[in-house]
Amino acid sequence: MAEKKKKTPRVNSKKKMINKIVRKESSPKKTVTNRKAITKKVIKSKYQGEEAFLASIKPYKLSKKEKYMSAKQKRHFSKILETWKQMLQLEQDRTADNIQNNGNHFADEADRATHEEGFTLEIRTRERERRLLSKIDQSVEDLDSGDYGFCLNPHCGVEIGIRRLEARPTASLCIDCKTLEEITERQQYG
Ligand SMILES: [Zn+2]
Repeated sequence: MAEKKKKTPRVNSKKKMINKIVRKESSPKKTVTNRKAITKKVIKSKYQGEEAFLASIKPYKLSKKEKYMSAKQKRHFSKILETWKQMLQLEQDRTADNIQNNGNHFADEADRATHEEGFTLEIRTRERERRLLSKIDQSVEDLDSGDYGFCLNPHCGVEIGIRRLEARPTASLCIDCKTLEEITERQQYG
């Protein structure tokens, strides 16, 4: 009978005491984020007037079989309208300041005349911008209700078209109805 050798476990002379050092994550990674800085979108470019703004609109890239006034298209126009609105509002604030700062401290009569001319112009510009702002608000409402991009004429209702809307984001009539309206107005008012 073979002697059953008892397996003696080899004892490592250099018995390592495993000392688990639990490293505490002590990295002070607390980054202070300034939330205030990201709340308001800063518009960098100054408003250079309606024409310049409209020229700055990047044409929407239509993908194949994309439905008219898809969610993506709506976002495209929503962005245009919102940017335009914010720019106009900033411009209105600036004009308001200008008007307020206009004192009647012009000794020279000619100076005063020039000044008043500029003043009148400023008020007219402001009035035009105010009307434009209400048109923009109407368009934003139309976007929400799903009416945006379709001719407002109840007898028509066709698609106004992306390119026409990019050229005139507040358009509520198709080109045919708009042309007809203009002809009628001309006949009425000479
Ligand atoms: Zn129409």
